[in-house]
Amino acid sequence: MSGNSHPDQHPADAAGIAAAAAVLRRGGLVAVPTETVYGLAARADSVAAVAAIYRAKGRPDFNPLIVHVPDVAAAARLARFDARALRLAQAFWPGPLTMVLPRRADAPLAAAVTAGLPTVAIRCPAHPAMRALLAEAGLPLAAPSANCSGGVSPTCAAHVAASLGANVDLILDGGACAAGIESTIVALREGGGWQVLRPGPITAADIAAILGEAEGAAVADGAIEAPGQLASHYAPGKPVRLNAIAAEADEFHIGFGAVAGDCSLSAGADMAEAAARLYAALHDAAAAAQPRIAVAPIPDEGIGAAINDRLRRAAA
Ligand code: AMP
Ligand code: MG
Repeated sequence: MSGNSHPDQHPADAAGIAAAAAVLRRGGLVAVPTETVYGLAARADSVAAVAAIYRAKGRPDFNPLIVHVPDVAAAARLARFDARALRLAQAFWPGPLTMVLPRRADAPLAAAVTAGLPTVAIRCPAHPAMRALLAEAGLPLAAPSANCSGGVSPTCAAHVAASLGANVDLILDGGACAAGIESTIVALREGGGWQVLRPGPITAADIAAILGEAEGAAVADGAIEAPGQLASHYAPGKPVRLNAIAAEADEFHIGFGAVAGDCSLSAGADMAEAAARLYAALHDAAAAAQPRIAVAPIPDEGIGAAINDRLRRAAA
């Protein structure tokens, strides 16, 4: 806990949503479950509210935020939404896909949301609590993950309270997140190409099935366009060793499939289950007695690419 007082915590029912929307309208911060991880939401049109997100997380100001909207019409008020964006929205929204698109000059967004970039990252989430909050607040909501910058992302309300404490005004508790890993970020280039800036639940192959193959690399390598794709991120505060079939005596071992470990991402080697459990396992490993963490090999197929992306950053 970082503050003297505790944030209000409400179940994500109608009364909780109404209280949270009131907090948002007056410029406060609300932690809210999404299908990926818990988000730290603020109204995206308010300079002060957006500044409060960066302050609460200790987030560097060059790392722009994702704006959450209820539908395509709301997205088209913020960005130039072309035919490709529409096809992706029809296929994957509401859901865990964020699109980086040219920002409209008249978009009602605080400048800090996009960290000065000419583009804006937009997502239409599927989780009923986040959808109800967007509807009730009637505003686009900027929402990064609800954790201190650089730390392990939260997949339940207790993770949020432990990481942000009194830096958040209200926490909506909607249980554990289903996908458990952050949204896929795809940049649609003005020339017609596209590129995955952050792997996630929707794979590059899923996107290629809608848009056709990307010209050049479908998945960006390095931090050219997504300033937030820092090499070190999701850090549990201890050394992390990857591809470990067996653990040393001083390691907490996160298993997968045939590698049992101290806890397992998925004993049955189910990739979706492994993604959903990843951050809870890293939180448990961070809290364990062992001073180091070892992680079993995870296949790089499907959402495994996103799991390995997060693990490499946790280990960096
Ligand atoms: P988080 O909110 O913690 O899930 O992180 C949001 C991610 O979206 C970060 O990696 C940002 O760098 C990325 N992002 C947000 N806006 C843009 C943008 N306009 N262009 C590229 N990446 C972006
Ligand atoms: Mg984050």
